[in-house]
Amino acid sequence: MTSNITRNRTAAASPLSRFDIEKIKADFPILNETVNGNRLVYLDNAATSQKPRVVINAIIEYYRKTNANIHRGLHKLAEDATRAYEATRAHTASFIGGVASEEIIFTRGTTESINLVACTWGEENIHEGDEIVITEMEHHANFIPWFMLAKKKKAVIRRIPITVCGHLDLNNIDEIINPRTKLVAVTHMSNVLGTINPIKELAAKAHARKALFLADGAQAAPHLPVDVKDLDVDFYVFSSHKMLGPTGVGVLYARRELLENMPPFNFGGEMISEVSFDRVTWADIPHKFEAGTPNIADVVAYHAALTYLEEIGMENIHRHEMELTGYAIEKLSRIEGIEIQGPQDVTQRGGAISFTDKDLHPHDISTFLDSKGVAIRAGHHCAQPLMRVLGKIATARASLYIYNNEDDIDILCNALVEMRRYFGL
Ligand code: PMP
Repeated sequence: MTSNITRNRTAAASPLSRFDIEKIKADFPILNETVNGNRLVYLDNAATSQKPRVVINAIIEYYRKTNANIHRGLHKLAEDATRAYEATRAHTASFIGGVASEEIIFTRGTTESINLVACTWGEENIHEGDEIVITEMEHHANFIPWFMLAKKKKAVIRRIPITVCGHLDLNNIDEIINPRTKLVAVTHMSNVLGTINPIKELAAKAHARKALFLADGAQAAPHLPVDVKDLDVDFYVFSSHKMLGPTGVGVLYARRELLENMPPFNFGGEMISEVSFDRVTWADIPHKFEAGTPNIADVVAYHAALTYLEEIGMENIHRHEMELTGYAIEKLSRIEGIEIQGPQDVTQRGGAISFTDKDLHPHDISTFLDSKGVAIRAGHHCAQPLMRVLGKIATARASLYIYNNEDDIDILCNALVEMRRYFGL
């Protein structure tokens, strides 16, 4: 059967006419690799994305031509390295809606960005009896730092439940976000269900109670246009490695006045203004939060990833993934025994598609698919509380990105059908 999605693709308005997947695939050397004798079909993008040649080359070029420590040397290489590092900061600031460069802090990843906020802003502002609101669909990275802080401060964690369809259940939201709420921390897009959450609406609810709002953008920033000023969030966090950039680079956006009032996270070189034996003053933001030598080469290469994404266009990427997610959901749901988790409406979700097989463990699904060259993730996806809510111990998850196409989905689905036959189901 030809799906509507496939038929619509041929229409003039199809984003794929502006989106040459074969050309994009050719930019990613790893996609030419074979795995277990088959062409690699990489569908584990929610875990980490692959890297285009421009990013790989940027790392090599940095070490070949520019490598020096930043913000200290007075020689040419040190100045070039500093300029390249700071150019990525400026680019990141414009990528999320045109904030000030100083409002961008580089960390090791989303996890460290959230820990930074919990250990600095949280330490100073969360007190006994205060409430921190999270949701049932949070990644451990946006749960455990708050859980530990609440435990230490005798604060209370409240959670927004999910509906059976995998949306946030906002029925009691005005009771959950209440005058005791100090922080609301919500994932922009679920790494398990794919759900895109109403961040702007929730941030407004938090602000109406004088609470702050943190959005975990690890799964959203790589796939959607993000404008943190329009969303009106106080903190927005994400990782380079999920958006074509290198590992070891994370971003924390926070409003200037928050950063200026937060204490430092780590102490040491580069984060100070003046030091004597009895007194220390801190550097201005953003440097106050970047102690020691940062991950210079990877930050510099992240610039190339942002440029690559912008050249394709975040709107186009989002539209392509919506189409492909629709195609995948339709094909997967026609396979006997397969159940898809999360919203079915592609306008309300992204391309992280969790599914289970009524007869097989997700680890067996993943192992079988691997034998066909198809890389997916199986497990609890660092969201064990959500797994409990779903009543699952684990799910299989295929997650899409710009270099995936219908062929990849067809190979996945054919392999799943073959798997059921192989196991005699
Ligand atoms: N939040 C979400 C929603 C994620 O999907 C992930 C990564 N799986 C993280 C946080 C943590 O990101 P990182 O491992 O890059 O710190």
